[in-house]
Formats: sequence, C-alpha cells, structure tokens
Amino acid sequence: MAETFQAILITRDEAKTQSVATVAMTADELMPGDVEVKVEATTVNYKDGLAITGKSPVVRRWPMIPGVDLAGTVLRSDNPRWHPGDRVVLNGWGVGEAHYGAYAGQARLKGEWLVPLPERLSARDAMVIGTAGYTAMLSVLAIEAAGLSPQDGPAVVTGASGGVGSVAIALLAKRGWEVLAVTGRTHEADYLTSLGASTIIDRAELSAPGKPLAKERWVAGIDAVGSQVLANVLAATRYGGAVAACGLAQGMDLPATVAPFILRGVSLLGIDSVMAPLGKRQIAWARLAEDLDPQILDAMATEIGFDGLIDKAHQIVEGTIRGRVVAMFD
Ligand code: NDP
Repeated sequence: MAETFQAILITRDEAKTQSVATVAMTADELMPGDVEVKVEATTVNYKDGLAITGKSPVVRRWPMIPGVDLAGTVLRSDNPRWHPGDRVVLNGWGVGEAHYGAYAGQARLKGEWLVPLPERLSARDAMVIGTAGYTAMLSVLAIEAAGLSPQDGPAVVTGASGGVGSVAIALLAKRGWEVLAVTGRTHEADYLTSLGASTIIDRAELSAPGKPLAKERWVAGIDAVGSQVLANVLAATRYGGAVAACGLAQGMDLPATVAPFILRGVSLLGIDSVMAPLGKRQIAWARLAEDLDPQILDAMATEIGFDGLIDKAHQIVEGTIRGRVVAMFD
C-alpha cells in the first residue's frame, strides 16, 4: 500500500465558501514535478495566513495545499541537478498558491525551483528565515546595490516585530548599520533592541498623512507595510537615499507625492521574492548563512509542529505573531 502523509487542504464549494482540513494523502495525489522532497520543516508567512483564512485571494488553483516555504531532503529525482539525499530549500514560485505547497509530509516540485541548503544552515534555521528572511536579505542587497552603506547614515525598518522586519533588523545591524525600528508594538522594544535596533519609533508617529517632505531622518529603509507609513518613510529619507518596498501589511496603496524622488533624489526599490531568479536566490541564501548568528535566529523563532499551522496562520493575519514561526515535521 502507498505510504500516506498528512496534508492541509484548502477547498472551495460552488458558492466559493472556503474550508480547511487536515487530510491523509499519498504521493500519487501530488501535482506534477520532477523532484519529490520529504518536507522536514516549514513556516508561516503572512501569505500563508491569507491563503488559510481566505482574507485575500492568494490561492489560484483549487483545491490547494498551502505553504510557500519548505526545507527538506530529496527522496526521488528525475532532474539531473538533484539526487536522493540532497538537502534543499524552496521559497515561492507560486508554491502554496498555484502548485501544492509545503503543508504536507511530501512535496513534488520542479527541480529548477530548488536551492541547495547552505551547509551552515539546518532545515530549522532555513525555515526560521523563510521567505520573510530571504525577502529581508533581498531588500538589504538592493540597498547595497543602490550604493548605500552604514557610513551614509541610519536605516529604518517598518513592521519591525514581524518576520521581514525582525530579520531585516538583524541583517542591517550585523553589517554595521544604525537601525531605527518602526513598530505598533512598542512593548516589544527589548526584543527589537536584542536583534540590533538602536531606536524604537512608535508606528503611530508615521501613520497619519504627513508633508510631502519631512525632516531627513534616515538614508535607507526596508518597508514591510506600504500605505501611509511608506509614504512618510519616503518623505523623511535623506538626500540620495533609497527605500526597499517589500510588503503591504498596512495596505496596498501609496498615498505619497513625487517630492522625495525629484527634490531629494530618493529611490524606491521594488522587492519581489516569488519569481526572483535562481542566481539572486543563491546569493541571498549564501549571505543569510553568513550574516545570521544562531542565537539571533533562536531569539526570533517560535517552534510548532504540523498541528499548530492553522492556528498560527490565523494569528499572523491578526498581526499578533512576533518574529518567525518554524514548524518541524516528525
Ligand atoms: P508579519 O505579519 O510577520 O509582519 C508584518 C508586520 O507589519 C507586523 O508584525 C506588524 O509589525 C506590522 N503591521 C501589521 N499590521 C499593520 C498595519 N495595519 N499597519 C502597519 N503595520 C502593520 O508578516 P511578514 O513579515 O511575513 O510579511 C510582511 C509583509 O511583507 C507582508 O505584507 C507580506 O505579504 C510581504 N511579503 C512580501 C514579499 C515579497 O516578495 N515582496 C515576501 C514576503 C513577505 P509591528 O507590530 O512591529 O508594527
């Protein structure tokens, strides 16, 4: 008899009402791909929360196994790049949205989506980092590619207590940046300073409509929230600075003016992790392995098992999760 494993399946009825259940599956039921992976660890990203709660239409194929990130070991491969026993990490590529994802004991994937797990990282480490951390790294790389360095001035991080924000603070601090953390949870100040932030800014200060140009406070930024906060971050960016925009936790809109761009030469850097090419992913994962100390990863991690995934997916959408969730499978 074929081996079964647990999977979380999101289904939709004719009235488009969504349900989520844990089911038993076999590898025969997985979607096409040339590499089969035993999933050892996954995580809960904001997007996974949106998929499971149905709050935003991120699922594009029904039914769907959610989970945009996984780390594990290759079981079978028809792809010349991969062999049984290889340790791999996967982020994005529409997995968990249009292709069966990580919330299952096994996944069948395209070999070109996989990145070798850097030797210094365990499956658990890779999932503490997850898409959130890899996106934070892409944002840091974009700021560096814009020619900015810690000597130019401080960096601001918004959505600071969340996944992207937590990793972004740690990565910037490790490279010598003075980091200002913007949070709606000022009671998390000790956590944020433990990651490397030197100043905590109450999100309320940046949430009301502001002037097109404000007092210059930072030269670089990583923004996970969008909307009014991003508009105010841009308005307070120093001459020649750059802000990496990677998230929309506050909203998809951007009620800004062009003043920071045309009067201060500020750049807005767009960050996409989902379709980023392999070369960029490999650079990002190599830097993550180099720059993130194990103690920092532990400080931002909450560990759960397979059974905790659905609850945490709801909590991330409610904005109550601090740092990163890592789910370890037996
Ligand atoms: P989290 O939920 O872990 O973090 C988001 C943080 O944003 C929260 O912790 C909170 O931080 C802050 N926040 C929540 N609600 C609001 C609000 N209404 N207004 C302002 N700030 C708010 O999510 P992730 O870190 O995993 O993801 C962050 C964003 O980045 C999401 O929008 C996600 O979709 C996006 N993303 C984009 C990717 C890409 O490829 N571009 C890849 C990965 C994520 P605090 O309490 O400290 O204020």
